[in-house]
Amino acid sequence: MNPIVMAVLLILGWGLFAYSAWRRWKLMMVGVAEDRFDRVGARLGAVWTYAIKQLRMRRYPLAGYAHMIIFFGFLVLLLRSLMLWGRGFDESFSFWIFGTEQILGRIYSLLKDVFAVLVFLGALVFVYYRMIARLPRMTLSTEGLIIIWIIVVMMVADVLYDGAFIARDAHASAIPGVALAPVMTGPVDPDAFDTKETGYVVEPDSPLKRSRISFTWYEPAGSVVAMMVQGLSDGALNCVRHVGFWTHVALVLIFLNLLPYSKHFHVITAIPNVYTQNLKPPGRLPPIEDIEGRLEREETLGIKRIDQFSWKSILDFYTCTECGRCSDHCPATSTGKKLSPKHFTLDLRDFLYKHDKALVAAKALGGGDSCEGDPPEHYKDLVDGVIDPEVLWACTSCRACEQECPVLISYVDKIVDMRRYLVQERGEFPNELQTAFRCLEASFNPWGFPAEERAKWAEGLNVQTLADHPDAEVILWVGCAPAYDDRAKKVTRATAQLMQKAGVDFAILGTEEQCTGDVARRAGNEYLFQMFAQQNVETLNRYGADTKKIVTTCPHCYNMLQHEYGDFGGHYHVIHHTTFLADLLAKGRLEPTKRVDKKVTFHDSCYLGRYNDIYEAPREALESIPGLTLVEPAESRDRGMCCGAGGAQMFKEEEPGDQRVNAARTQQLLNTNPDAIASACPFCMRMLTDGLADKGREDLPQLDVAEILLESVEAGQPTEAHT
Ligand code: SF4
Ligand code: SF4
Repeated sequence: MNPIVMAVLLILGWGLFAYSAWRRWKLMMVGVAEDRFDRVGARLGAVWTYAIKQLRMRRYPLAGYAHMIIFFGFLVLLLRSLMLWGRGFDESFSFWIFGTEQILGRIYSLLKDVFAVLVFLGALVFVYYRMIARLPRMTLSTEGLIIIWIIVVMMVADVLYDGAFIARDAHASAIPGVALAPVMTGPVDPDAFDTKETGYVVEPDSPLKRSRISFTWYEPAGSVVAMMVQGLSDGALNCVRHVGFWTHVALVLIFLNLLPYSKHFHVITAIPNVYTQNLKPPGRLPPIEDIEGRLEREETLGIKRIDQFSWKSILDFYTCTECGRCSDHCPATSTGKKLSPKHFTLDLRDFLYKHDKALVAAKALGGGDSCEGDPPEHYKDLVDGVIDPEVLWACTSCRACEQECPVLISYVDKIVDMRRYLVQERGEFPNELQTAFRCLEASFNPWGFPAEERAKWAEGLNVQTLADHPDAEVILWVGCAPAYDDRAKKVTRATAQLMQKAGVDFAILGTEEQCTGDVARRAGNEYLFQMFAQQNVETLNRYGADTKKIVTTCPHCYNMLQHEYGDFGGHYHVIHHTTFLADLLAKGRLEPTKRVDKKVTFHDSCYLGRYNDIYEAPREALESIPGLTLVEPAESRDRGMCCGAGGAQMFKEEEPGDQRVNAARTQQLLNTNPDAIASACPFCMRMLTDGLADKGREDLPQLDVAEILLESVEAGQPTEAHT
């Protein structure tokens, strides 16, 4: 087309992009080191599932499929862009197997045309979302809109170029010797065809008659456009061809250069972000020492400054697409708290971008914040400075945000890391947590009940302790709420009774058991948590717990023992009581016989479902009960709403908002019009009980799966929950 213009555009476009990409790379390297390159197979598998098949995108079907089309369209059209750049130097250029004379070239040409149209339509879906529907979850920025329109215009320019090219070629081949001349001379025949549209005057049997453009299977969009523009003069066709060509070429380069400065940076960073995702169990919090070099390099515990995030966290910030799916499902956002996970990420990202040069320069000088007086702006305290403490304390650690995020951005680890700094460095946290911490230190449970009463719940049940029966096959790990809370104690008793009925050889730790430290850890008091972890691991290992099964009714204890104690030398086979009971039912060791003619709805605990993928076992146990009908709320399984207790919320006042999380969740469950609500977590049970009181529905039974099962297994004997 024009080699000089093409060369200038390519050098400028790619040169500027390389500079921007280098800046972003340097900024990412400001973050502390973290190894995210192990287990290559698993990482490639994740890329296949989340980046190529875009599993999470499909949770919003229309936007999801439109995005998939654009993604695959871009892959196909990448080759087309390379070809067009080549044609800037030589218009006949195409990669040899992709010329339209080759079958492969024709297939590619067909694909290219189909995707150009599909990408055009897919982009229009997002134009609709941004300009007409104006979805509140999305950031309706001008920049986002510009990018979408660039995509739309790029596709139009591409087919215009093709259409004009085909039409011009047809003219040229139809009029040998007069090719491209705008007007043919010759005798005028009033019957000549196309004279009005084409401006050509030809004899009836002129070759032009045979050259009329027909639909070509391998250039469907191009040939349709060619038919539409064939009436233009050659000059006009040339003009369209040039406009289409240069518009496409220029927009591709403009698009490329906008990426590092916009939310569309995810076009480049999404695949690396998915590849470098955390492969540890979901929601497992890393010990502070896990982030390589953080303790050595920094004087603070937890995260105070932006450069104390790892490079992977910075890649998370780059990758956020601002789609708002995280906030859409966040219980804090939906109940009017200050926390919106999307804005948490965007606020940190904006701060990072604002200080990119200073941060990179400071890193080059060795990093650190050793100067006296106020720190420089780029090293300022993030809490208060960028993130309101209320935002941090509103999180329930439910992971609904992480479950929804299509590019696998994590939240809970960042929020807890910032809480760690607040608690351990600044000593700032909600007052009620102070009480819980003190009770934990003094009585090994967050309520301050006497440690020696930890096994009182079992009175009259003839449950042995491991000290008396060290060879027991199963350890029933009780947990604080199930040991002390009057309502939860009934669940513990029901579970123990069911295990006895099934002939399970089990024992408890009794007063040797201490809080797992979940509350302390989620609240940011890592040192207190580590104290419990070390003590409990020591006790459990003394009884050979690594060779036994541990059963627990508390999903928080389950998560701790199964996933987080490994870092402290505790490697156990932990089973949630609903899984254990479902297994006993499957083996015929428990037989529910009494009908329970109730419509029951089940509330999924976050730490059981989203954290540990246990959705079926409680449902199987419930469905084994004759007469019981299970009804699912609209928000269930991995989209179930949090009860509001996790992340240490149970031990503090809820942050200010429009309504309480437990009230919102209870309403969702009540919408199924149930006869009873079932749950499988002592924290959820407490929150839903309060939620029912809030709704004036104290009359509605709120039972654990074990209690309902015991009622049926006991054939007529009422459970303690009813007594
Ligand atoms: S973990 Fe739950 S509460 Fe916390 S930000 Fe994510 S969705 Fe919101
Ligand atoms: S964090 Fe993920 S879900 Fe939330 S806005 Fe960003 S890309 Fe979307």
